[in-house]
Amino acid sequence: MAPVVRSPEFQIDAPYIATLVNMLEAAAQNPGVPAALSLWAEDIKRRPAWLEAFAKVHLRWQNLSPYFSHVDLTYRPYRRCSYQQQSVDDLVECWRRWVDKKDAVAVEKALREFDKILRPWWNRYLSRYTSPLIAALQRELEHPRVAELTRHLLYFSQLTPEKLGKFRVVVVAQPPGSRRLGRREDSVLIIEVPVTPNAKLDTDAVVTALHELAHYAYERSPARLPMEWEFARQGPAGFIASHYWGEVMASAFDGLGREVLDPEFHASDSLYGQPLIDVMAREFFHQWRDDDLLRMGPKLAQTLARTLEEHWPLERWRLSDFLFRTVVFAESEEAFAQFRNSMWFQYYGGKASVPERHGPLFGVPPAVSQVYLMSDLQARQHEALLKDLGTSPEAYAKLLRAPGGLALYRSGGRTKPPVFILVANNARSLLRGASYLGEISTEMPLPAEGWTPLKRTE
Ligand SMILES: [Zn+2]
Repeated sequence: MAPVVRSPEFQIDAPYIATLVNMLEAAAQNPGVPAALSLWAEDIKRRPAWLEAFAKVHLRWQNLSPYFSHVDLTYRPYRRCSYQQQSVDDLVECWRRWVDKKDAVAVEKALREFDKILRPWWNRYLSRYTSPLIAALQRELEHPRVAELTRHLLYFSQLTPEKLGKFRVVVVAQPPGSRRLGRREDSVLIIEVPVTPNAKLDTDAVVTALHELAHYAYERSPARLPMEWEFARQGPAGFIASHYWGEVMASAFDGLGREVLDPEFHASDSLYGQPLIDVMAREFFHQWRDDDLLRMGPKLAQTLARTLEEHWPLERWRLSDFLFRTVVFAESEEAFAQFRNSMWFQYYGGKASVPERHGPLFGVPPAVSQVYLMSDLQARQHEALLKDLGTSPEAYAKLLRAPGGLALYRSGGRTKPPVFILVANNARSLLRGASYLGEISTEMPLPAEGWTPLKRTE
């Protein structure tokens, strides 16, 4: 067994405020209100004006384009308040620091109105049903075989419990029948648990906590950056492996956890919803199970790239595999949101403006792809960028003459991460093109170097 003596510490709690914010967001995001939520909140079905006003603000926040994910100016800090604060008044105070003055009225109103609806339910049922689930989660995570696994995880990540720090799990009550979700923000995992009288904790909640703990450990590992640089040296397979390895190894760790916690689990069971990640996760589940000394580092980066080539060969690679982690620069906030919202990728960062020159971005791992979304007019203003790609405004302008014209350029070759530039003949077709590219990227093979006209239906 790996020589790590103590396992990481979990702090589990279920503050009312976290449930309040989470459910308010769920009510705002769903035009029809999830059936499960309306079971509790009959009043929400009619979608009162305060809920509509909050939903509009909320949607705008989600579409904001932060320049790299860790510098999100509103949405993240706003959410952080939900598990740091103890009362509605404290929460409002906390939000005031982050929320725009013009939005603050709508946000506070929605919160106070929703509090009136939810609080009686919380006092009468939810808090009572939630406590046994917290106790059960604590028990499962302290199970000696699970503790052994988490020590193993620390060894793999080259961490000690001190370096990892405390991992907090915030349990959020959900009405029965709703889909359970986990969302992590740094060292805090918010996990939605359906609560009913005598509810049993299902294994998925424990596995979700283990999965997110794994992601958190990988992020904190001193071996992460050396791995990133090694991926960048491994050619195209390295680029793809660099995007997926965290998900692959977190899912492989799921498998180890499931084996302990779920008597029905079989080694051939699926571990992740996306086929490429699933194939890789199962491969590394076996490798990890057979090799106690498997560890993060440059050597693992090489193994991941080679294993990808073997189990998911070149013919199967799709554009979305290269865009899984990406930095997007768009000509407008709308184009940015269209693209980000239409594709399945782990968004890395971006900005609704195009920098003068493309090139290495400070603070971004070396194998992250870059995407530029521009209409013809903007592209002509970025002549330097086009020149870097070995072309002139005239050369691609020809491609754009067709109605709704759309062209895509890829660069990067075998050694640099890909740069994609999508150019449309006007701002309107750029919007359509941005969402079209997002949608087809899961079927589209990596385009050939140079300008490729994209066919699309209007
Ligand atoms: Zn994950």
